[in-house]
Amino acid sequence: MSERVLRGVAASAGVAMGPAVVYREAQPDRPAAAAGTPAEEQARYEAACRQAEAELSQLAERADSQSREILSAHQLMLQDPELHGRVAQAIQAGQPAEEAVRAAVEQFAGMLEALDDQYLRERAADVRDVGRRLVAALSGRTVGIRLERPAVVIARDLAPTDTIGLERSLLLGFVTEQGGPTSHTSILARSWGIPAVVAAHGVLEAARDGMTVALDGDAGEVVLEPDAGTRQRYEAAIARARQQAERDRAEASLPGETPDGVRVELAGNAGSPAEVALAMAKGAEGVGLLRSEFLFMGRDTAPTEEEQYQAYAEALRNAQGKRVIIRTLDVGGDKDIPYLGLPKEQNPFLGVRALRLCFRRPELFRTQLRALLRASVHGRLAIMFPMVSGLDDLRRAKAALADVRRALEAEGHPVADYEVGIMVEIPSAALLAEHLAPEVDFFSIGTNDLVQYTLAVDRGNPELASMYQPCHPAVLRLIDRVVRAAHDHSKWVGVCGEMGGLPEGALLLLGLGVDELSMAPALLPRIRRLVRATPFAKARAVAERSLALGTPEEVLTLVEPLLRRGE
Ligand code: PEP
Ligand code: MG
Repeated sequence: MSERVLRGVAASAGVAMGPAVVYREAQPDRPAAAAGTPAEEQARYEAACRQAEAELSQLAERADSQSREILSAHQLMLQDPELHGRVAQAIQAGQPAEEAVRAAVEQFAGMLEALDDQYLRERAADVRDVGRRLVAALSGRTVGIRLERPAVVIARDLAPTDTIGLERSLLLGFVTEQGGPTSHTSILARSWGIPAVVAAHGVLEAARDGMTVALDGDAGEVVLEPDAGTRQRYEAAIARARQQAERDRAEASLPGETPDGVRVELAGNAGSPAEVALAMAKGAEGVGLLRSEFLFMGRDTAPTEEEQYQAYAEALRNAQGKRVIIRTLDVGGDKDIPYLGLPKEQNPFLGVRALRLCFRRPELFRTQLRALLRASVHGRLAIMFPMVSGLDDLRRAKAALADVRRALEAEGHPVADYEVGIMVEIPSAALLAEHLAPEVDFFSIGTNDLVQYTLAVDRGNPELASMYQPCHPAVLRLIDRVVRAAHDHSKWVGVCGEMGGLPEGALLLLGLGVDELSMAPALLPRIRRLVRATPFAKARAVAERSLALGTPEEVLTLVEPLLRRGE
């Protein structure tokens, strides 16, 4: 047999090769056409619900907080009166419980798949997962993948709870037939650092258990039964990746410091408490941005103060005494949360987003601030407000925080020291930085938005990708202004947008005098090597000359010779 190459979507970086374990959701035997009486079928259904509920609780006991959220979303779905109503109706009409569950779940999942919102579309997998668990429970089975040796798992679209039970140390990679870059398989693979390719059409039909599979999570390539040449290519890539990982591990505890002794703190961005732990494992010197949106997504109601408190406390504990900057809710823009009922807007990125939304929903804001301040006793907390456009926003947000603090102290809750800072991501805030600096402990420059608002280029529009230039001199001038204003007031400045993780971006930011760079943890080793190999004086000279240039191309040409350092 010759090899077969499939293309999919690159979902999690890295290469892997090994025997396949093909996960086909076993279809339980169809019950005999003569189902029990409706009352009997209803009783079976209710027993299956209780079993599914117990399984989910059991899984939650050994899950991390990210997985626990998925599990509790499933528990909520299991309590959904709409689902129960549909199933009961079908049972009354004479259907066996299995058929009733399948039909109700398919209707619900189909409805989600028809929506425009990619996030909600991908939640169809959760609904089907709950359905599968129920159908399995009806025939006395449980669901989930068990690995006995190292393997590449191939599946249609791995359900979240399949992956929660997986033995991580035996997992070489994931390939799925369906799914997208934000489906659970992808998110989980990235947070575990395991290579994954999703939407590899045809893989399920072509793959067999035990067949050798090679996958490249950077290129989105899957090779079934690779021939000798391909095997060699993959073996070499895996060996290189292993060496690189060893080198990264050995260097993880080295600080961000240039050869001429200038310190720049290298921190990690995180989207959940589990990712805080991951950032620490990659040698992050702190967490420069914990996006709190994770707590609000994929559910039907806002998280309670207690849930938020638990999650923030876990994030702080996971950072082992290092600073964690937790950003208050930033939804609106391209992030919708259906239960918040955000208005449909012509220009959502210029609309009721982040702080603007929090000011309109004081209860929502207050609950989050209470949870944050209560968590302050568990580590080194910094609170950061997003989308500050000027002094008025900053003062309003700080006043809300001060109110919450007074109330908590009056109730007898201990509150430890914390820092308060803002994201500088709107050009007006950058231009007014000297007025904002005296009233904050720090700035963190959000280049993702600062670039889009400065250049008037939608950050998510692929048509304009070539115009989206973080190293544009106009952006550099704003950043320079922010750094100077902060340092004039003895405040520190970080960068938590993607620019800090780009080699050319990191060098320019270093040269502009930024004190901290925060990035996806996977990017830390490369940037750490670059910083440790580049004399500050050289980066400074390039940054200063860049400020006088007129185009991003000229800037990139100037930086280019410095980039080969630290390879
Ligand atoms: C930014 O704008 O640079 C940023 C880090 O925030 P987000 O990407 O969440 O908007
Ligand atoms: Mg932003």
